[in-house]
Amino acid sequence: MDKICLKGMNGDELQSWCLKEGESNYRGQQIFEWMYRHGISSFDDMLNVNKPFREFLRKNCIIQTLEMQNIYISKIDKSTKIIFRTTDNQFIETISMIYGYRHTVCISSQVGCSLNCSFCETGRMGLKRNLSTGEIVDQLIFVRGHNKQPITNVVFMGMGEPFHNYDNVISAADIFHSPRGFNLAATRITISTVGILPKIQQFIKEKQRYKLAISLNAADDSSRTQIMPVNEKWSIVDLIKAGKEYSNMKKRQVMFEYVLIKGVNDSKDDAHKLAHLLQGIPCKLNIIPYNETEGIFRRPDEKTIFQFSEILHNRRDEYRVLIRWSKGQDINAGCGQLAGKQA
Ligand code: SAH
Repeated sequence: MDKICLKGMNGDELQSWCLKEGESNYRGQQIFEWMYRHGISSFDDMLNVNKPFREFLRKNCIIQTLEMQNIYISKIDKSTKIIFRTTDNQFIETISMIYGYRHTVCISSQVGCSLNCSFCETGRMGLKRNLSTGEIVDQLIFVRGHNKQPITNVVFMGMGEPFHNYDNVISAADIFHSPRGFNLAATRITISTVGILPKIQQFIKEKQRYKLAISLNAADDSSRTQIMPVNEKWSIVDLIKAGKEYSNMKKRQVMFEYVLIKGVNDSKDDAHKLAHLLQGIPCKLNIIPYNETEGIFRRPDEKTIFQFSEILHNRRDEYRVLIRWSKGQDINAGCGQLAGKQA
């Protein structure tokens, strides 16, 4: 008989599972705290659970879904890239980044990705499968155990499209947010999407106000379709409108990401078009200078990057603009460089 995986279950699920096994629902709460608040990896550490039940758990259940395969530490900054192996021998990546007191962990939501954005390394892998809630949560548990600096932010910007694995991503975010779990404020949890419109609309209706980031990456539809085939389904205007609705409904600014690629979307004209699109939208714009991979795309020179952001900065009173220089360049830990490779 297959063992039952407890990691990933929420409080209600654990409580009803414990009741079904003839234990009190209070046991469910205890297991929740042991797994998520304390991050234990062995049933023997569940000190306030009686021995016979611990024995039962050990025989019938699993609480660890990932095994650490490799860690790479950047020599340039304090970023760390961790490669995990899943129980079915897939590899996923997680990045830990430290900026002063801020400790941001970038986590994966799928093994690979089906979206085929032409500039993204993860896209080349194709989609292998969704990660379970337990596998998403285990990435954060490992980082918390490995690095003493408390985690302040979580971003779903690793491998995969979070909104193609919507339920598991939201369940994991709820565990991160739970005061009995990781106790992270909803503002500290960001989910980034290529723009799966029906899921953005569902996200707007969620109880929690997790942050939303939309990868725009172009200022007109024909350029966007060329690099992001998903644009054929939901266009730029649809996404800007949905972003605006998110900002207004959730009283929280949507973030647009714009990966700046040489000769593709980095002209002055692109900057003016983008400024026009974002006019009157309560949002933040993150410009991400392209991280070069094995593909054909290149990063613009610094002059072009600053010129592009300057044009947008001139509308500073309408929205905020930030250039986000990726961390961990020497260990391929930047956005779009994650492909589960071992070296
Ligand atoms: N699929 C989601 C989550 C991944 S987030 C999404 O696309 O939003 C990864 C971010 O890195 C996205 O904004 C993506 O556009 C960007 N990105 C992908 N490849 C990149 C690269 N080589 N350099 C810089 N950013 C890249």
